[in-house]
Amino acid sequence: MTDVLELTAAQAARQIEAGELGADEYLDAYAEAAAGEELNAYLWREDPNGGRGGGRDRPADAPLGGVPVAVKDLFCTEDVPTTAGSRILEGYRPPYTATAVRKLTDAGALVLGKTNLDEFGMGSSNENSGYGPVLNPWDRRRVPGGSSGGSAAAVAARLAPCAIGTDTGGSVRQPASLCGIVGLKPTYGAISRQGMIAFASSLDQCGTLTRDVADAALLLRAMEGRDRCDSTSVGIEGGVELPSREDLEGLRFGVPRELSADAEGLEAGVSAAFERALGLIRELGGEVDECELPHAAHGLSAYYVLAPAEASANLARYDGVRFGLRADGDADLLNMYERTRDAGFGAEVKRRIMLGTYALSSGYYEAYYGRAQRVRTRIVEDFAGAFGRFDYLVTPTSPTVAFELGARTDSPLAMYLSDYCTVPMSLAGIPTISIPAGLAEPDGGGPELPVGLQIAAPAFAESRLLDAAHAIEGAIGFDATPGLGGG
Ligand code: GLN
Repeated sequence: MTDVLELTAAQAARQIEAGELGADEYLDAYAEAAAGEELNAYLWREDPNGGRGGGRDRPADAPLGGVPVAVKDLFCTEDVPTTAGSRILEGYRPPYTATAVRKLTDAGALVLGKTNLDEFGMGSSNENSGYGPVLNPWDRRRVPGGSSGGSAAAVAARLAPCAIGTDTGGSVRQPASLCGIVGLKPTYGAISRQGMIAFASSLDQCGTLTRDVADAALLLRAMEGRDRCDSTSVGIEGGVELPSREDLEGLRFGVPRELSADAEGLEAGVSAAFERALGLIRELGGEVDECELPHAAHGLSAYYVLAPAEASANLARYDGVRFGLRADGDADLLNMYERTRDAGFGAEVKRRIMLGTYALSSGYYEAYYGRAQRVRTRIVEDFAGAFGRFDYLVTPTSPTVAFELGARTDSPLAMYLSDYCTVPMSLAGIPTISIPAGLAEPDGGGPELPVGLQIAAPAFAESRLLDAAHAIEGAIGFDATPGLGGG
């Protein structure tokens, strides 16, 4: 059983197609592993005999034939509990399935379960879940990152071969980094957002959490595309090619100082692993040079005005009438709204609704929202300038390795800094991937934990991005697993 759990999704799909591995045997192995999990990674699991997860009647030669996928519980799944990590959606069963999930099952995948997350995607540690934190499989006293922490922990701990998540400011890349797996955030608009519960609509994008870069390509390929139910979706012209590149000859890599050496709170071990990765990029024939993103340091400030502003509007729909929870009592309608929202939303969600409502209020709109939008435009221009000189930009994904549970819960600001390196790419809407770059001790000592290398490319250059990431992945040769290499 242990052996099949080590296969990548692509390897398993090939073996299933060739008749060397039974789709049922493969699913059962994961269903069993997931049923016994102790990380709180899953909020709902498929009953292996229930057969509701889709894909079962697909031919084995479908691209994802027989591959189980863990789905962040921010995607609507028909008749299957969907909570967004919030108590306010307790008991909610959507009447339809998100386009991204449906495309996976159309390609032959099976939904293995719904994974834990920070409430509505707001957080960087999974401690903001209404259903308890997720533990990092590398060290259970530490966080897996967030908000797609359940998906990241499940893939790292062999509780799923692959998973999907959402990334608004770093929520796929940062947990992938902290759990030692690959996390891809595609270009804004590459994958439909239909049925993906909204946090900040101009930033939210579906992404993948996988064991390697080839699996990221496989999942993206199945999910990308224009969807008439999401007018902001455009797909990726020419589709997605599976990566094959092994060298970086003739490719130029920019290292933005603001997001590497000068990044806030960068740990020594992370910096050392990053430098080693730059050395490997050079050995593969890539040119590496320093560059500037002059406004990137203001990314977080702009993000924490824009994302809460959009969230405050998106979350207005949870009123106790249409979805999930309704607070008891015989009070009037307004009072019922208030009591439901008070009981259903957690502290971070309330903080963001207040921040966003304030930023959008008349008299303050220009000073906050308008100004943040202008910073966003400057950041977009910074990236456009850098991509005039470079094919890719590389930075550490997270300034630190996985931190201890509780270490940042008292300081929203310290928590927000977790996304210092990932937020600028979200504001620019460009495709960005995090791959494992090695292990490092945290500052002040502790176990060796995964470090992520972040690679960004121009909008819709996913195939080129995956190709470079594949070459670098091969050179890094990261093969540590939780409990074997660094637990
Ligand atoms: N950690 C960031 C936040 O709390 C990003 C979250 C995300 O990408 N969904 O908003």
